[in-house]
Amino acid sequence: MPMSQRQKKARKTSLLRDYGAQCWWCQRALPAKKLTLDHLLPQSKGGSHSLEHLWLACVPCNSGRGNSLNPPKRIFSLNSISTSLVRKHA
Ligand SMILES: [Zn+2]
Repeated sequence: MPMSQRQKKARKTSLLRDYGAQCWWCQRALPAKKLTLDHLLPQSKGGSHSLEHLWLACVPCNSGRGNSLNPPKRIFSLNSISTSLVRKHA
């Protein structure tokens, strides 16, 4: 079942507070309105809406990931990202 706008807003606010206004994948600082909620486990793969399963991602990263379980392809070209970062959040 999709989240309501209200639920999404609440999740986003919590993530912004805890992690700051930046894309989790590429670490780019962006205005909150440019960040989207990204599902760690896509809903199509049984992912839940709980906070542990969501993070903030910019649109290129989020859409680059699609429904896969992997980081967006564009991330592999960014040196600053390591798998340990991903681990930490998961
Ligand atoms: Zn990004």
